[in-house]
Amino acid sequence: LIQIMTPLNFLGVMYREIRQALVDMDDMFDLLEQPAEVTDRPGARPLDVQGGEIVFDRVEFGYDPERPILKGLSFRVPPGETVAIVGSTGAGKSTIGRLIFRFYDVTGGAIRIDGQDLRDVTQESLHARIGVVPQDTVLFNDTVGYNIAYGRDGATQAEIEAAARAARIHDFILSLPQGYDTQVGERGLKLSGGEKQRVGIARTLLKDPPILILDEATSALDTATEADIQQELSAMGRGRSVIVIAHRLSTVADADRIVVLENGRLVEEGPHEALLARGGRYAELWSRQTMDEDLAA
Ligand code: ADP
Repeated sequence: LIQIMTPLNFLGVMYREIRQALVDMDDMFDLLEQPAEVTDRPGARPLDVQGGEIVFDRVEFGYDPERPILKGLSFRVPPGETVAIVGSTGAGKSTIGRLIFRFYDVTGGAIRIDGQDLRDVTQESLHARIGVVPQDTVLFNDTVGYNIAYGRDGATQAEIEAAARAARIHDFILSLPQGYDTQVGERGLKLSGGEKQRVGIARTLLKDPPILILDEATSALDTATEADIQQELSAMGRGRSVIVIAHRLSTVADADRIVVLENGRLVEEGPHEALLARGGRYAELWSRQTMDEDLAA
């Protein structure tokens, strides 16, 4: 979707995008942990997203120079495809999300979107083109309508409702005492994990970014809700380039490709069936997880 911005609403959009970016950061990462050290390079240009190809090219990164986290990591997300990142805890999955959002700069190699090095583009444009659906959507103490509208400046009520419908939260909202004007958040109506997640999805649908990072929920949702939400997430991923930071394997089988990360290195890559057939690290993680689920059932 191409947005044509008139100069007048551009400032508003920019303001909103910056605040949105802050919210995304706040959602996805603990803001307190984040050093605000990355700034626009002089002459930085807006990111121009065509297909939305994401390339990690021999990326090196560590939070601490003494302790490398990503060690020459290369992979590619072709335009419009979904790539899931899996690997044990601490492997560096969430770090990948933080680097795409450019909270930190890589220390070696490069990350490119449609051929543009992230260090050469403005942060504002980068954050405007990337949608993050975090593990736990943060709600403002405001109306549920406002919470969705936050996805895009100047959205009409009809657009807000269309997004809510697509996220399958519209009927629920209508059932609230004041519909879209119902106050939610800490000081209002508390929504369940699944409802919050749907508000987050509606917000992102409204933003309509060509690139999506889904930081998969680890545990907040029950299995039935999880399966439902998964459908909305897959629908949202159509026509966009998606990176799924997968903390569990149950939801990655449908990804076009799976990248298996271990100790900051790519150890396997391919679609689910091919990786299972290979009988390597992924197959091992998969059988271990299936076993855990059997035990839990
Ligand atoms: P995963 O998402 O695969 O569990 P992460 O990307 O969160 O892994 O973390 C990779 C490694 O980086 C871990 O060893 C973790 O302790 C470390 N790490 C993560 N965030 C920070 C941070 N803000 N500062 C220092 N080390 C961090």
